[in-house]
Amino acid sequence: MVIIMKPGTGKEEIDALAARFRDQGLDVGITNGIDCSILGLVGDTSCLDIDKIAMQPHVERVMRVQEPFKKANRKFHPTDTVVNVGKAKIGSGSFCVIAGPCSVESEAQIIEVAQDVKKSGAALLRGGAFKPRTSPYSFQGLGTPGLDLLLEAREATGLPIVSEIMAPRYVDLFEEKVDVVQIGARNMQNFDLLKEVGRMSKPVLLKRGLSNSYEEWIMSAEYIMSEGNENVILCERGVRTFETYTRNTLDVSAIPVIKKMSHLPIIADPSHACGMSWMVEPLALAAIAAGADGLIIEVHNDPPHAKCDGKQSLTPEQFDALMKKVEAMTALMGKTLIQ
Ligand code: PEP
Ligand code: MN
Repeated sequence: MVIIMKPGTGKEEIDALAARFRDQGLDVGITNGIDCSILGLVGDTSCLDIDKIAMQPHVERVMRVQEPFKKANRKFHPTDTVVNVGKAKIGSGSFCVIAGPCSVESEAQIIEVAQDVKKSGAALLRGGAFKPRTSPYSFQGLGTPGLDLLLEAREATGLPIVSEIMAPRYVDLFEEKVDVVQIGARNMQNFDLLKEVGRMSKPVLLKRGLSNSYEEWIMSAEYIMSEGNENVILCERGVRTFETYTRNTLDVSAIPVIKKMSHLPIIADPSHACGMSWMVEPLALAAIAAGADGLIIEVHNDPPHAKCDGKQSLTPEQFDALMKKVEAMTALMGKTLIQ
């Protein structure tokens, strides 16, 4: 961190400020220019409040030169993190596809879709039991019975299950029943929830918020990791832009940028990004080309009658066709597709 002092600040004030930072365990270098002095702080400055420092009477300006995240930072952990879920592996050359319906609707639906997506090469099964819906009058998910149906589907297929947690009060339930805990876009900055899942033993799939920056997103991963859970998978699911043709806009740039900033694996969700089934395939392939470590795809056995997100859901046949291209594209990118 660099602190530029106001012109004319006396040596006494500068030394007093430097001493305060030294007391906090930081190294402080002082450079005296012609009209102003600059303090260079070296060490762990992540707990310093930049706004408070800027409010000090003799301080002109404060700049961070290091990112505020440590555990998720590639600088301090140059090798890729691999998240293991059963025999599935996500990251560092291992690529997985998570597939399934937006929401669990019935035993027949989830078992049928699970068997279909497994046959086509999915490594994990998704399905929402608790749904974050824009309207309180829309289908809210089956709740706990929905998680039990996912367990039946896991039993029938061997696929680990991924499901969204909506509130801290469900932590014990999810710890017991699911294999990967999803934090949805709307909860990306629900810090209480992030801290709670940070104490869980299960990997966390952290979706990017609708309008959040890369740094905010990684800081949310940092919340989870700082509580001890380092198994975080980031998921780019499209962001809000001025464009209304698509549901959201898949930010393909996020994939290489996140890979540069962090060692955590990143997957893409083309289904929620575009909102239309015909666009899922090109976006999925674009994400692989950009370096994604996996995909999460909505698949439904009867999309026109789906209780949630039918318009963006692939049929099992469409998913099967996509998986053939995913196989070719992952091979082209030198990745191992785990099925
Ligand atoms: C979902 O995965 O069904 C979902 C609600 O996703 P998001 O949080 O990205 O909108
Ligand atoms: Mn959905």
